[in-house]
Amino acid sequence: MRPEFKYEKEIAGTANARNRKQEQYRKIVSFLYETGNASIAEIVKHSKISQPLVASLVDDLLGFGVLLDNGIGESIGGRRPNLYCINPAYQYVVGVDINLHTLTIALFDLSNQLIRREEYKNFDLENSSAYTDKLVGKINDVLNEKNISTSQVLAMGLSIPGLIDAKNGVSFTHLTFAEQGLGNYLSEKLGFSVVLDNDARMMALGEKAFGKAKGKKDVLCLNLSNRIGLGIILNEQLYSGKNGFAGEFGHILIDPEGEQCYCGKIGCLETLTSGEILVRNVNEGIEKGQASFLRQAKDEGKSIDLREVVAAINNGDQFAIDQLNKMSDYLGKGLVTLIHLLNPEMIIIGGRLAQTGKYIVDPVRMALNKYAMDRISSETEVVCSDLIDDAALMGTLSNVMKEVLRIS
Ligand SMILES: [Zn+2]
Repeated sequence: MRPEFKYEKEIAGTANARNRKQEQYRKIVSFLYETGNASIAEIVKHSKISQPLVASLVDDLLGFGVLLDNGIGESIGGRRPNLYCINPAYQYVVGVDINLHTLTIALFDLSNQLIRREEYKNFDLENSSAYTDKLVGKINDVLNEKNISTSQVLAMGLSIPGLIDAKNGVSFTHLTFAEQGLGNYLSEKLGFSVVLDNDARMMALGEKAFGKAKGKKDVLCLNLSNRIGLGIILNEQLYSGKNGFAGEFGHILIDPEGEQCYCGKIGCLETLTSGEILVRNVNEGIEKGQASFLRQAKDEGKSIDLREVVAAINNGDQFAIDQLNKMSDYLGKGLVTLIHLLNPEMIIIGGRLAQTGKYIVDPVRMALNKYAMDRISSETEVVCSDLIDDAALMGTLSNVMKEVLRIS
């Protein structure tokens, strides 16, 4: 079920006439979504719909409650025009970011404002209806707290790791038990449409709409947490490939003589560089007697996870920084192939490891200097995301609005 704006009143006329009207409404609403507010004259100019018809359509949308009269704008000669904007509280978008161990639920209004954000730690992803029942319960809790009914939800955007067929809403890696596809399954349980895609691609969409990729044409967005994901923006569009599986960067071959990867292949990039590998190497080093801020926690029998390793790096722990440098060198080797192939203007590092800032950007830059052709790599900026934990959530919002408003 493709998400659509719902109107309180039925649109009159035959199916064709209704479709035409829906399309005209959408043109106006999507223009206002992108510009913030506009006058009738500006809508006429953009939509190429006649002035009297725009005036009547805007009147309808004001009546439905979709638009608000935003007061008087600047004059460009003559009478100052009335400005219109989308009513932020007309409907809401639910954003859900599923990770292996954490669940985050967000609620956005139609002016892209985050009005509620709930994060559940130790919410371990498992392939069962018990998990989705808990998920649906948490989403309903968030809606109830804000007194928002399911009919006020425009749609839900979902970000999930693994292989995803976004067009048909099917997940092939996690929550695969739902025979009708995960999107349809959740939609039936929740009572509104669900649009889903892979987490790295959602992060890239988030960066494109609200982060450092805004206004850029060719950008690679890395999701560096426990594992590695990649969202590719080419010519301002998210690149998905034939089946939507593009961006499995963690599984490119780096060392044919290397270890076996959890995907079944040998020597993938993820066997040499990822948050998981970093944590493993830090733990092993400390067990062998290496000095580190993390030694005390280890001696007390606590397990050290990525969050703690990142904190140690930011506190200047030399051993943890050394380990990050080592893995950044392998990451750089992988990125060089992408740079030589795609000539991106920017690489955005996102995910948990982005919180190490210069400690990851500098060694990645060094590796690119070492392994890439200078003329190509010197044009590529390497930065950390400033959306950090919310890039994928912001991406789910952007994905829903793109679907509803048919924005490319
Ligand atoms: Zn692999």
